[in-house]
Amino acid sequence: MKQCPKCYGAHRPQATCPYCNHGYQVAEKAELEERAGELTEILEIQKKEKKMEVGRARNVVTLEQIAMQRGYSPRWVKKCVRLRIYRLGECNHETSLRNII
Ligand SMILES: [Zn+2]
Repeated sequence: MKQCPKCYGAHRPQATCPYCNHGYQVAEKAELEERAGELTEILEIQKKEKKMEVGRARNVVTLEQIAMQRGYSPRWVKKCVRLRIYRLGECNHETSLRNII
């Protein structure tokens, strides 16, 4: 049930109040768009955090834990490690990860 802000009559959710004909549509659309924007922002932040979490992982065990939490396949872990070695290799850094594969 919805309560009309104008006449305070309770009615089923619909575009206009059946008692006083108060229109909701405009305000609700703006609110929905705002929420959609917020959701996109939250998703972006979560994406960044996920990437950072992977970036901070210093060993395969941590990567495996992330993979398990997120339901990734074991191949994802291998891909991550290979990518890491490739990147580190580019910087000519020796790493303990090298011994794992
Ligand atoms: Zn009303």
